[in-house]
Amino acid sequence: MLLAKRGLRVLAVDPVAYGRDTLSTHAMMRGGVLQLHRWGLLDRVRAAGTPPIASTTFHYGGESVRVEIKERDGVDRLFAPRRTVLDPILVDAAREAGAEVVYGQSLVDLLRDDEGRVVGARMSGPDREVTDVTADLVIGADGMRSRVARILGLEADYTAPHAACSIYGYWPDVALEGNHWFYEADVSIGTIPTNDDETCVFALIPRTRFAARGERTTGELHLEALRAVSPDLGDDIASRTDTVKVRTFAGAPGFLRPAAGPGWALVGDAGYFRDPITAHGITDALREAELLARAITGNGSGDLSHYQAGRDARVKGLLDVTDRLASFDWTMDEVQELHLELTRQMNAQVAVLTAGGEPHQP
Ligand SMILES: Cc1cc2nc3c(=O)[nH]c(=O)nc-3n(C[C@H](O)[C@H](O)[C@H](O)COP(=O)(O)OP(=O)(O)OC[C@H]3O[C@@H](n4cnc5c(N)ncnc54)[C@H](O)[C@@H]3O)c2cc1C
Repeated sequence: MLLAKRGLRVLAVDPVAYGRDTLSTHAMMRGGVLQLHRWGLLDRVRAAGTPPIASTTFHYGGESVRVEIKERDGVDRLFAPRRTVLDPILVDAAREAGAEVVYGQSLVDLLRDDEGRVVGARMSGPDREVTDVTADLVIGADGMRSRVARILGLEADYTAPHAACSIYGYWPDVALEGNHWFYEADVSIGTIPTNDDETCVFALIPRTRFAARGERTTGELHLEALRAVSPDLGDDIASRTDTVKVRTFAGAPGFLRPAAGPGWALVGDAGYFRDPITAHGITDALREAELLARAITGNGSGDLSHYQAGRDARVKGLLDVTDRLASFDWTMDEVQELHLELTRQMNAQVAVLTAGGEPHQP
């Protein structure tokens, strides 16, 4: 969308179907909501029935801290649209801006010139027919298991070793207002209000605990985590859980991969993955998409090395604090300190966006 708006000819391909769900919860932080607002897309998120979130309450053992979402830069509420809502809104906006978006096609290889510069992509669909498309720049926005990164042979150049296992599902009529994040020894749970009058109820546990689950199902692990932290919520969910299937992400370490080279760039999880415990991946992906778009169209030289240096400086602090949280190696005092550090990191990232960026589109 951003590149098409800047007059570039854009082709986006994705093997899955338009509007398909993805393995992810979807709490958005202020920076991501701000971008949707500036792009004129927040009204579409609201119109899809996504409930505004006026507060986030942190529960540390027995102590609760409620943070009201204050008005800043035109944003006075957070939102957590289902990916079946958010992704089509972004794709529609990209098409309206002039991008061509093709579903049912995967990038299967990169085209290179004699010097090894990437000059296009090879695509293929279920019929295995191959199409080559030349391009000045190929951007791998293809997630943490990025094929583009694999073809280029890119190794992570910075890693964050800890990983939590996430288990989540959706329930109606959960009697908690706003976002709630709960922390106890070796477990974190939370609730996020979302579309269709449902609440996403998630549990995060150390990966080692997930590995040692024995015969217990992921549904049982989810309930066990809820009950350990909030018996009321656990009992409420247990009383009607037979109708809901939980989804599980076993966890993966965080990393930074190189962000750009001759004829290619990586954005979103493809270049930078952090544990879901800070619920920041969508916000990060949108911000980096904007900053990469600015870098691509800004300097005219095609040299994106500054983009990579900027990205690393922006995200390392957040990656480190996320890693500390995902280690579950903290006391209740330490986890509060880590949240203060997280807030500092998030504020710095919002400041990067407000220092420039897309004008608001009514
Ligand atoms: C359990 C879990 C919970 C999470 N919770 C949150 C949360 O609450 N808030 C938050 O902000 N973030 C959360 N995240 C992180 C968030 O999901 C990601 O950071 C975000 O989806 C990254 O977006 P992306 O576009 O880079 O990658 P993805 O969303 O993974 O999209 C990659 C796309 O590339 C396509 N693709 C893959 N291979 C190819 C190919 N060869 N050719 C063409 N296309 C291809 C895929 O089909 C997909 O559409 C969570 C993640 C997990 C796993």
